[in-house]
Amino acid sequence: AGGQDGEVGKARRAAAAGEEAGKQPTIFSKIIARSVPATVLYEDDKCLVFRDVAPQAPVHFLVIPKRPIPRISHVGPQDTELLGHLLVVAARTAQAEGLADGYRVVINDGKHGAQSVYHLHLHVLGGRQLGWPPG
Ligand code: C5P
Repeated sequence: AGGQDGEVGKARRAAAAGEEAGKQPTIFSKIIARSVPATVLYEDDKCLVFRDVAPQAPVHFLVIPKRPIPRISHVGPQDTELLGHLLVVAARTAQAEGLADGYRVVINDGKHGAQSVYHLHLHVLGGRQLGWPPG
């Protein structure tokens, strides 16, 4: 409560804006730190792979860098090797998950991309026939 729009609403928006700008840790930092639980499929010094809590396909996992890059539109040449690594890990994990008939790798960016967590992540979806184009 607290006014028409409420202190809670204000705080939530401020936190969201901070996350969007990459100034605020997101829930994914807590998953990396293991203070929020997740079903981890793979981990190394640079990245973590875990199942999406709200799967949009029979197999749906996320590949995230441990370094909290907020979004794909913020990367630079210094990130080339890391981004390549994330793709290789995505492909290897898809194979381990039995996605021999194919799958989709998606990165949502910003408002129009419907990004909701501002810690870069690759979605990997498979296990059923996917449609195209996405909504
Ligand atoms: O690309 P976008 O930012 O919209 O995706 C965030 C994804 O993170 C969602 O698919 C959501 O289900 C997932 N998520 C999760 N575990 C959390 C919070 C969000 O797997 N604790």
